[in-house]
Amino acid sequence: MKIALTFDDGPNLGTTVDVLALLKKYKIKASFFIIGNLINDSTIKILKQITESGCEIENHSFTHSFMTHLTKQEMWYETDKTSNLIEEITGRRPRFFRPPYIDVNQEMFDSIPLVFISGEGVEDWNDEIKAEERVSRLLTKIRDGDIVLLHDLEGNMETVKALEVVIPEWIAEGYEFLTVAELFDQANKTPKAQDGILYSNINDAEEKGGEQI
Ligand SMILES: [Zn+2]
Repeated sequence: MKIALTFDDGPNLGTTVDVLALLKKYKIKASFFIIGNLINDSTIKILKQITESGCEIENHSFTHSFMTHLTKQEMWYETDKTSNLIEEITGRRPRFFRPPYIDVNQEMFDSIPLVFISGEGVEDWNDEIKAEERVSRLLTKIRDGDIVLLHDLEGNMETVKALEVVIPEWIAEGYEFLTVAELFDQANKTPKAQDGILYSNINDAEEKGGEQI
């Protein structure tokens, strides 16, 4: 059983660092979908820490806008600018893109040369949903092959607390934790950019055509 933990909306010097410490404690990996305009002199070192820990950095746009309102040129620019920055800092260009708010349309698939990733989430951006509820939802919902959608938003301690409970539980159940790229690679799947699929599980392409639009 294999899953990929993913974290959106970093990098920052608080929650991103706490999540990295937890991953290190349990010797597991994850993928971080980062917002380009949060990269600055102080967060560059966090990106380097993510890469050095064996985790991967993917693309979550430059300004975190509702992108379906943008022109094709602007859609492309949002992702290209972020990919360029990530590549300059880490030496690796992102393969995957998570649309902000999972707001997508056909123009985005046509304009952005990355594989689109959604995921199974537990509304962990909502402060009213506390750690205990996040734990119970995660343990109920997540299954083999899932991409787990979480947030390392600044101040999102409830997710850090939830992970302290959930990770050892999943380890005891026999789950392995991979990056999104590893999850596809180990299943011998090569998702293509512009395939019109929003992946939440590695079997989405075969099972139900993903959430095709
Ligand atoms: Zn986001």
